[in-house]
Amino acid sequence: MNALLNILNFIDGEFVPAVGESWLDNVEPATGVIYSLLADSDDRDVALAVQAAEKAFPSWSNMPATERSRILLRIAEGIDTHMEELAHAESKDSGKPVELARTVDIPRARDNFHFFGTAVMHFASESHAMPGQAINYTLRQPLGTVACISPWNLPLYLFTWKIAPALAAGNCVVAKPSEITPATAWMLADIARAAGLPAGVLNIVHGLGPKVGAALVDHPGIKAISFTGGTKTGEAIARSAAPRFKKLSLELGGKNPNLIFADCDYEQALQTSVRSSLSNQGQICLCGSRIYVERALYDRFRSDFVARVAALIQGDPLQTQTQQGAVVSQAHFDKVMACIALAREEGGVVLTGGKPVKLKGRCSKGWFIEPTVIEGLAPGCRTNREEIFGPVVTLQPFDREDEALALANDGTYGLAATVWTQNLDRAHRLAEQLQAGVVWVNCWLLRDLRTPFGGMRDSGVGREGGWEAMRFFTEPKNVCIKY
Ligand code: NAD
Repeated sequence: MNALLNILNFIDGEFVPAVGESWLDNVEPATGVIYSLLADSDDRDVALAVQAAEKAFPSWSNMPATERSRILLRIAEGIDTHMEELAHAESKDSGKPVELARTVDIPRARDNFHFFGTAVMHFASESHAMPGQAINYTLRQPLGTVACISPWNLPLYLFTWKIAPALAAGNCVVAKPSEITPATAWMLADIARAAGLPAGVLNIVHGLGPKVGAALVDHPGIKAISFTGGTKTGEAIARSAAPRFKKLSLELGGKNPNLIFADCDYEQALQTSVRSSLSNQGQICLCGSRIYVERALYDRFRSDFVARVAALIQGDPLQTQTQQGAVVSQAHFDKVMACIALAREEGGVVLTGGKPVKLKGRCSKGWFIEPTVIEGLAPGCRTNREEIFGPVVTLQPFDREDEALALANDGTYGLAATVWTQNLDRAHRLAEQLQAGVVWVNCWLLRDLRTPFGGMRDSGVGREGGWEAMRFFTEPKNVCIKY
């Protein structure tokens, strides 16, 4: 297994530096210290990676599903075997609590390979009979070389969420992890090689989005792009991909509402809302960053919620007891602090948090922000509409269900929504009307990998997960045979 030194590209089964031999700094957010370098790749590295993928495609796409399945399952096993090292690397790289990486990110990365490693054995296509005349059947053929581009917040989890279905469907992949969190993608390359994945089937290029990411999107050999990241980046990718009619799946930003009704299971709603607003320092696209509480419950919820948020243990992410780690970078720290200042200007009252945290010892130069709860903001203000993607959550009371729905649907995003109620009619009614690709009722982040996942409106197009993902990575061809 790679020890963390310089993070190299993985092309045609080999670890190689960028052709231009330039490097970027990899900084540990909890300490502000550069702890490795990563390849600063460009279009020349993309060209080599696509070439390797194209060479590997005929044999990978024609390999029997049972054999592809065995390799993907071995990758899942490899992730499992290296769980501790991966969790540690992910925590160091991203600032997230190691316990979160150990219990959520890395197990889910393993499960992605496990799920698609078995799905490939059951993937089926359709047949439509025209009695007495003809039979139609649909061939679902892999596309060729596809690009998978992922963000920094759930580095290995989202990286594998794209790569696993692409490989399962018989494609070769050129993948680009975030330049801010490259470590676990690098380790995955080692695991994939050890699992017997043939050279060129998975290629990983590291480096900056506007440079190597844009070159990858632009390369004529790339047939489809599966992207997760910010809405602005998604727009740029769509502009570049559209003239070449590349298939696109865009999983973008969110500003998710969390609706809490007075008839909810109070303890469950309270406990889960702390998690759903602030897990990974609020840097999960699915975090419920706008909490709306029915007025009858508002005062009680506000006081309990604020007390629990204030009690979260903030500290060195590598310590097992830490519940709140560092935000991912200096730039992101500055952005989140500016959002808190804006919320104050917009009339928000900070109930807890709102300040940077200075830790002692190893983490004294890290980027830590107190988990922050704000109330008193007007519905349409920027704080309530723009994605902050940090440890900041707003609270607001409502009186009626229709008012709660209007507040929830305000804005331009449509990724996820959460509803807490014991009233089944209301749950169904709201689930139908909420403008969100994912609606959780009385839970959060519960995932069945067979379900379609993704956002509507500015949160993206396309759906990932289950058959949707396998289908995305194939070209359907109808064959009509007359008899
Ligand atoms: P980002 O858009 O800055 O970067 C995402 C990836 O795209 C990185 O690998 C980056 O290097 C690359 N990139 C940047 N510019 C590019 C370009 N012009 N062409 C090609 N690639 C380019 O996003 P981020 O800051 O890494 O991640 C945070 C964002 O991701 C938030 O908005 C969050 O909501 C979103 N996100 C969405 C989901 C989802 O499932 N909808 C999940 C996680 C994160």
